[in-house]
Amino acid sequence: MNRVVVIGAGIGGLTTAALLAKKGYRVTVLESQSYPGGCAATFERQGYRFDAGATVGCGFHRKGPLDVLADELGISWPMLNCPAAWEYIHGHRHIHLSHSRSELLRQFPDSEPFWQAQERYAAFLWSVSSYILPWPPGGFHDLSDLFGKIVHHVPSFYPLIPLVNKTALQWLAGYGLDRQEDFVRFIDAQLLISVQTTAARANALNAAIALDLPSRGTHRLTGGIGSVASSLAASLVDNGGTICYGEHVRGIETAGKSVVSVTTATGRSYGADVVVANLTPASLAGLDGISFRKRDIQKGSTPEWGAFVLYLGVEESAFDGMQVSHVQIVGETGELGEGNSIFVSVSPSDDSLRAPEGFRAVTVSAHTRPERWFAARSEGKDAYERLKSEYTHTVMRMLARHFPGIEERIHTTFSATPVTWERYTGRMKGYVGGYPQTSLFAVRGPGTPLRNLFLVGDSVFPGQSLPGVVTGARRAAERVMNREP
Ligand SMILES: Cc1cc2nc3c(=O)[nH]c(=O)nc-3n(C[C@H](O)[C@H](O)[C@H](O)COP(=O)(O)OP(=O)(O)OC[C@H]3O[C@@H](n4cnc5c(N)ncnc54)[C@H](O)[C@@H]3O)c2cc1C
Repeated sequence: MNRVVVIGAGIGGLTTAALLAKKGYRVTVLESQSYPGGCAATFERQGYRFDAGATVGCGFHRKGPLDVLADELGISWPMLNCPAAWEYIHGHRHIHLSHSRSELLRQFPDSEPFWQAQERYAAFLWSVSSYILPWPPGGFHDLSDLFGKIVHHVPSFYPLIPLVNKTALQWLAGYGLDRQEDFVRFIDAQLLISVQTTAARANALNAAIALDLPSRGTHRLTGGIGSVASSLAASLVDNGGTICYGEHVRGIETAGKSVVSVTTATGRSYGADVVVANLTPASLAGLDGISFRKRDIQKGSTPEWGAFVLYLGVEESAFDGMQVSHVQIVGETGELGEGNSIFVSVSPSDDSLRAPEGFRAVTVSAHTRPERWFAARSEGKDAYERLKSEYTHTVMRMLARHFPGIEERIHTTFSATPVTWERYTGRMKGYVGGYPQTSLFAVRGPGTPLRNLFLVGDSVFPGQSLPGVVTGARRAAERVMNREP
């Protein structure tokens, strides 16, 4: 009774797989692509190793979710500490976000009491993430576990209560900061890349932990962020697990309320006592053999964003004087998506695995709504290529404003749209980055209507990012281990 099949080798699937293999389960991971990592993969093209989506290593700090995971699995991440997380650029305003908040406080002196409160909330929330909170409760067992943990920590939970139902903007209003346009723009830009929505809609507690990421410290992974997935895959194999690449899961077979096997496009069938799907709910619902009501797994907040990403091979002289590896560039005014804010990540000069000598591998990403890309594609190749070229121009214009002359130094360019993301990660309609974190109650846990089928990944609480997905995956692994036979 211990055969586990995991569909997908993203960070959620691999974390669950590695934890279960370590506990003696017979784990097989089936992955469509020829490499692991999904949205946090690093792939090779034209002599470069490009980070596909995720670029910033968060959650590796002492006792952070990736640190705890490494201790448990005996992994040593190939990482280095970054002196600053990223640089924020909005018009003439440049802020280096780092462990020390000194630059931030110099530029927004009135915000100090807000940051003091944020730090207190975040410290508590990080500590909660280390003891697997069964939220949302999926049954009686979860409820009693949750009750026990809350009772045990009542004094620490108490101060969080006023924020539970507040938006981040309402929280800012408590400090008179909600009308300071530049400050709200800064907060909006940080929240969009973390909780996938801006202050007017983001839940205040989600915002508290998201705003903590730069000051907790970020890390760079040698060889690219994909080293996280490779390390997890190696741990899985060391503990007797198997990972099969090029195995695209088409469907599941059920008996009563249980999955009994998983079938792939190559015609193979894998018998399973437990199946863990590292899929979005919509992709899971699209598998053959799913007969339960699709809305049972589609409840909770629905995703809103996809990503347009440019991958560039650039002469390193374009980055002379650059002090950080990541830069967030935000338009003067207007909505932050659709190329009006970009996140630029440049491979480190001393990581020879990433780019040919004298060059850097660059990933530039922007939030975009997937619907317009699928509409363009349905109009035909010309319409789709036209949209791609428009976006490339918009993003390049923004980039060139801050890296003058960069266009002449680019040797390799290609891009990914939501259509590409759907193709390479199996995420239906190319929605990436998880769900907008607008409420602590509109969230989904790992359970599904089938007794032995569990969901992991950034659609599951607490949502997107490496630390978020690892936290959700630990809970899924615990659910599998505590399952009734
Ligand atoms: C542009 C962008 C930038 C980001 N930046 C950061 C960042 O800087 N830091 C950070 O921490 N997070 C970042 N994130 C978020 C982070 O990358 C994701 O939240 C996380 O990697 C998602 O992991 P997941 O477990 O949901 O799996 P996914 O990444 O969705 O992977 C799912 C895997 O399953 C496979 N699969 C799908 N369907 C099938 C099938 N039918 N059969 C077999 N295999 C299948 C896919 O090929 C894929 O490998 C970013 C995301 C994006 C898109």
